[in-house]
Amino acid sequence: MFIKITTVKADTHEGIQEELKDVFAGLDQATHDWTMRAARMECGWICASCSGSDYRGMPDECAHGQQWCTDIITRDKKAAYALS
Ligand SMILES: [Zn+2]
Repeated sequence: MFIKITTVKADTHEGIQEELKDVFAGLDQATHDWTMRAARMECGWICASCSGSDYRGMPDECAHGQQWCTDIITRDKKAAYALS
């Protein structure tokens, strides 16, 4: 997973808030892209809620048997294949 570190250089409160918005938007996009690739088994995956991981990619259900994890997995896999 690749995360770009951005230096916040604005010197006003509003400026800092604007820059942080961009930073978080970039992070969300990176996280989303990575999740979608993992769902298609293109890269390793880590469960955000129970920290279960699989180097092959996103499994079909949570390794720890958590139903709400599995619900998220099912949703993300559907989204990933819809995008590809
Ligand atoms: Zn899980």
